[in-house]
Amino acid sequence: MDPIPRTVGFRRGERNVFFHILTACNLSCRHCYINPSQHGTKTLSRETIHRWIELFADKEKRTNLIFLGGEPTLHPDLPSAIQKAKESGYFVTVDSNGYLFNDLLDKTTPDLLDYLSFSLDGPDAETNDAIRGQGVFDICTANIARAVQKGFRVSVIYTVSRKNLEALARMVPLLASLQVKKFFIQVIGLRGNSALAAGEETQQVSREEWLETVPEVARQAAEQGIHVTYPKVFLDRDEQFECAGNVAENFFIFPNGRVYQCPLCEDHPINAYRIENDKLVKNEGLMEDRFFRLNIAEGCVMNKLLQADNIAYDEGGGPLYRISCCLLKQEIG
Ligand code: SF4
Ligand code: SF4
Repeated sequence: MDPIPRTVGFRRGERNVFFHILTACNLSCRHCYINPSQHGTKTLSRETIHRWIELFADKEKRTNLIFLGGEPTLHPDLPSAIQKAKESGYFVTVDSNGYLFNDLLDKTTPDLLDYLSFSLDGPDAETNDAIRGQGVFDICTANIARAVQKGFRVSVIYTVSRKNLEALARMVPLLASLQVKKFFIQVIGLRGNSALAAGEETQQVSREEWLETVPEVARQAAEQGIHVTYPKVFLDRDEQFECAGNVAENFFIFPNGRVYQCPLCEDHPINAYRIENDKLVKNEGLMEDRFFRLNIAEGCVMNKLLQADNIAYDEGGGPLYRISCCLLKQEIG
């Protein structure tokens, strides 16, 4: 029987902490969402990282902590941060661009790190390097092989844009040959560099392109024993809309102390929280959480405000479909 995708709602009680420990990076990917004017250029000290890990720890609830950058392996104290996070009860992931600086594989162990995630945007150097930079494909795939060989659980993240949608299906044999067991497909958002480039040429795929390609590739990967997660994006008529900002606990922490609940808000100074003197402080005024409460026919409010092009309307002015929360996923495999 063919594997059937299932929608993964926000698991009540589950918490996700996305911790950007620095914004510096050795690459300059075309779709990078890091925005130094909003997120700063700071590298957090080892002591601050440890204190902020403690600040968000909650041993009563399963909490995923994802270390991000910039490129988090550029931080020499990442291994100590991983250890601190594990001791504090987190399920720990590192999202790397594949360079694994500072000998990460030798300085941490698979029992401390639950997942090591690599970003790859193409099944070959031609596709990947046109987006992520020359030489990146070879380094990233070589380090995936080394990590698997050393016993780390490895996942791969692929950000779909018009530049690599057609190549997505060819990721399946590559992932199988690298023995990667988890595959995350993301969709490019009109944020950061992609928003700037949008005037000339949009990188976003259309609804039809997305629906024609992504679920089928996910099914093929699942047949190879790979667990695939991809965003729902378009809600079916009978599906309920929920905003993760209202029903889930997600924290997107930046080194300048901003803490967002919604990734679509990250280019604007509307973060619901900030960290001040190592304490989490609620921001008052017109912040992102006010938008989460608005109930509109199009589904996600921030999508409607920031990237309304992906909504189509009928003759009566009603939306033809609703856009789901960008944090709502489907899983298969
Ligand atoms: S690797 Fe990540 S942080 Fe670095 S430029 Fe690419 S998208 Fe941005
Ligand atoms: S993406 Fe939309 S639905 Fe999801 S948290 Fe943000 S505003 Fe809410």
